[in-house]
Amino acid sequence: LTQLYAPLNFLGFVYREIKHSLADMERMFRLLDAGAEVGDASGAKPLATRAASVEFRSVDFGYDAKRQILFDMNFTIPAGQTLAVVGSSGAGKSTLSRLMFRFYDVGGGAIRVNGTDIRELTQDSLRSHIGIVPQDTVLFNDSIYYNIAYGRPDATRDEVIDAARSAHIHDFVMGLPDGYDTQVGERGLKLSGGEKQRVAIARTILKNPPILIFDEATSALDSRTEKAIQAELAHISANRTTLIIAHRLSTIVDADRILVMDGGRVIESGSHRELVDQKGRYAEMWRLQQESEPEAV
Ligand code: ADP
Ligand code: MG
Repeated sequence: LTQLYAPLNFLGFVYREIKHSLADMERMFRLLDAGAEVGDASGAKPLATRAASVEFRSVDFGYDAKRQILFDMNFTIPAGQTLAVVGSSGAGKSTLSRLMFRFYDVGGGAIRVNGTDIRELTQDSLRSHIGIVPQDTVLFNDSIYYNIAYGRPDATRDEVIDAARSAHIHDFVMGLPDGYDTQVGERGLKLSGGEKQRVAIARTILKNPPILIFDEATSALDSRTEKAIQAELAHISANRTTLIIAHRLSTIVDADRILVMDGGRVIESGSHRELVDQKGRYAEMWRLQQESEPEAV
């Protein structure tokens, strides 16, 4: 029995770790289908599209019944457009990305992709359409090659390396003793936060999905690398439906629309220019960031 218990215990640990950081959810759900909190509705339809609009309608949500986290969230990301979300820590930004990936189901209201409630879609097909670069990436205990190729397991070696180049991680990998075969993760080489972010970006570039979510995806990078990768991210998100959760406002000035969140609510929304002109919370954040890091603007 203990032989059986140990791996189960380990899976429980993995589940909590992974769930917390939002990383590698797809694999987790494959491993732990039985433990998933959301399931396919009977008659769920597969999603199959290259142009997806995403709509939040009157979305309420709490991780538990005692504390509501999101209040009446309403927004639409038309197919191919970019919505940026900014706001203080704890405002509920990452929660939006978890709901979009249907990691949890909404408490009230609905999330729709091309007009269909995501609860009426198969989870596999929904998730295959979304690429996430999460706030904290957890790597698999496997080679760095595997960790990138996971984005699209049937990719060729050249495609994997191209994605690594685009994410500015190729040269780093080539400098490792075993190159792409280097073992990483808890039991291998520990990568820095910025290196892990670049692996996650490479994985997403390789996956090439119609919907992208970047959750403070470049927050651990120095500002020079961030600038270089930002150009790459702008390139891959062109004509794709994109949700960017940003910590540096300079990275989202070109977004089609920006939401400012506080306490689980939208408090301002508009383009960068409109929000600066409103002289509200966003304008204040913008002024403070320009003062503290003028070189990044
Ligand atoms: P942000 O990304 O804007 O910093 P989050 O969406 O991560 O904020 O979190 C919003 C709120 O939800 C926070 O108060 C946070 O403590 C809470 N929260 C986040 N994840 C969980 C969870 N798994 N269980 C319970 N509460 C959570
Ligand atoms: Mg967050």
